[in-house]
Amino acid sequence: MKVFARIFFTLRLLMVCAMASAGAGGADQALILQGMKSTLWLQTSAEYEALTIQAYAAARRALPEALADKDWSAIPGSAHNTPSLPPAIIMDIDETVLSNARFQGELIKRATTFNRELFKTWTDSATAPPVPGAPAFIEAAEKLGIHIFFVTNRDASLESATRTNLERRGFPLESGFDNVLMRNEKPGWTRDKESRRALVAHDYRVIMIVGDDLNDFTSAAAGNPTERRAIVEKYADFWGLRWSILPNPAYGSWEQALYGFRRNLDAGDKLQLRRQYLQGGNSPAP
Ligand SMILES: [Mg+2]
Repeated sequence: MKVFARIFFTLRLLMVCAMASAGAGGADQALILQGMKSTLWLQTSAEYEALTIQAYAAARRALPEALADKDWSAIPGSAHNTPSLPPAIIMDIDETVLSNARFQGELIKRATTFNRELFKTWTDSATAPPVPGAPAFIEAAEKLGIHIFFVTNRDASLESATRTNLERRGFPLESGFDNVLMRNEKPGWTRDKESRRALVAHDYRVIMIVGDDLNDFTSAAAGNPTERRAIVEKYADFWGLRWSILPNPAYGSWEQALYGFRRNLDAGDKLQLRRQYLQGGNSPAP
């Protein structure tokens, strides 16, 4: 009898282990597949292209007024507003001037999530296409004598390939100084872009910021979803004039906010948090 009990216990244990591993794999798969719709939207929808062209066209129309108005600044706080400085625009790179939608698609095809090795392979290819509207906007800004600074959270190790990609797509690289400011390129250049924005603002009048993530505009982007929307409302006068934002439903600090900016969560935890934030018809008003 004891032998049967032991065999039964061992079989049960094996079944539980098998179910646990199938469950984990299932959660990973579910998480990855949930990214397919937003990636398809970025890759195929005419609406995405219309939105980016629309955002850049509005930004372009604001440039003459931004140049003429010496009080105009995209950096909140008067300490940064020095009218005599040459004008500059700070631009993010990923999903702002270069599109990684094909990289996002590759991750789904490989049934995997973001990892540095695959992103390095993608950036090394230097084949990311431009975000629609970005080339025309930058060309117009340059004609008006405005300097462009790229402030990206791509790691400094990717600078050479990133510069090659920007150059191939006709984006301006300054010859006299470095206008591609990478994360970790200098001490203190962290994920929070504040120190790099301040560095540019020290020598230039920053008239506009363009990005796809709240973190591209303000260091107060790391709150929960309600706090993040309050930041957007606080700067209501900036959007569409001093700050131009592009759509990115595939990834960003909006998603990290759902996870409380914890980077060690597994797929099951993330799926659960996504469900918790999903509001239905009977949910209390946010
Ligand atoms: Mg970006």
